[in-house]
Amino acid sequence: MKSVLLITTGGTIASVQGAEGLRPGYSSAELLRFVEGLNAYYRIDTQELLNLDSSNIQVDEWIAIARAIHAALPKYDGVVVTHGTDTMAYTASMVSFMLQGLKKPVVFTGSQMPIDNLLTDARNNLYTAFAAVGCGIPGVTVAFNRRIIPGCRAVKVRSMGFEAFESVNAGDLGRVFADGLRPLCAIPGDPDSPVALRDRVCREVFLLKLVPGINPDVLCMLRRMRYRGIVIEAFGAGGMQFVRTNLLEHLRVLTEAGIAVVVCSQCLYEGSSLGLYEVGQKLLSCGVIPARDMTTEAAVTKLMWALGQTDDARRVAEIFNTSYCGEITPEG
Ligand code: ASP
Repeated sequence: MKSVLLITTGGTIASVQGAEGLRPGYSSAELLRFVEGLNAYYRIDTQELLNLDSSNIQVDEWIAIARAIHAALPKYDGVVVTHGTDTMAYTASMVSFMLQGLKKPVVFTGSQMPIDNLLTDARNNLYTAFAAVGCGIPGVTVAFNRRIIPGCRAVKVRSMGFEAFESVNAGDLGRVFADGLRPLCAIPGDPDSPVALRDRVCREVFLLKLVPGINPDVLCMLRRMRYRGIVIEAFGAGGMQFVRTNLLEHLRVLTEAGIAVVVCSQCLYEGSSLGLYEVGQKLLSCGVIPARDMTTEAAVTKLMWALGQTDDARRVAEIFNTSYCGEITPEG
């Protein structure tokens, strides 16, 4: 029988109706009582780490979650983490970077509806998450709506529907069919390799979504605010205005000052390709780092993580060129 640690952090899955709307209320033991049947298949311990709506999950909570998982890994076959869906993609991406060399399953899950509602998706999502540990699907993943999604590729795409998450620019790692959970990835023979906890992160990272005609002063303001890293969601394959108001000049000042600027796309699918258009090539010549086909969530957390490992902007660019957990599709 596989042993699993269930770490709970709050979210809708554990929520109850309060005077001001839904808020996390159920403890980890109470949560487990809604899926008691699981005890027949897995040896389960629980750890109530946090009880927060995921809008309140920030850098300190990412570190606490990564540390709790890291401490549990030698003792369990895998870890299931329940988490609010709103920022789950950020947490799953960050934890993917923090736990280097991970081969055991670490599965994030949650639900769109509280577990005590008869129509809830919570029970199925929990069963799927435990099945992912049962199958040994490696690394950080998100189990949702009968799919196992790589943690660093997960994006929340719906605020109400049960198909809330998609695996962006990468395939699922497993899916539930009528004959059970089918892994769609290689399962490591020896999942016990050592996992390095790299939990130093830089908090001074900003995400800027361009709008047509954006005032370039915003870039000067970010410099004055001492941000060390900026992710820019540029247009399409990666474009930015240089006619009349020239954003590029302002951007060059930032990169020359040693601020790491990463460019990704506002399009959900297929990522940026800065070499394609004149507007993109001009951006590249300003010293920006292409995020290629990374999700915005992965690009932001990777930049925070990279700047936690090094102060050297060239080293940050090298880190962005390296796929640590499948967050970028290899070129060619
Ligand atoms: N607001 C909730 C949260 O992210 C939404 C959910 O869990 O589905 O904690």
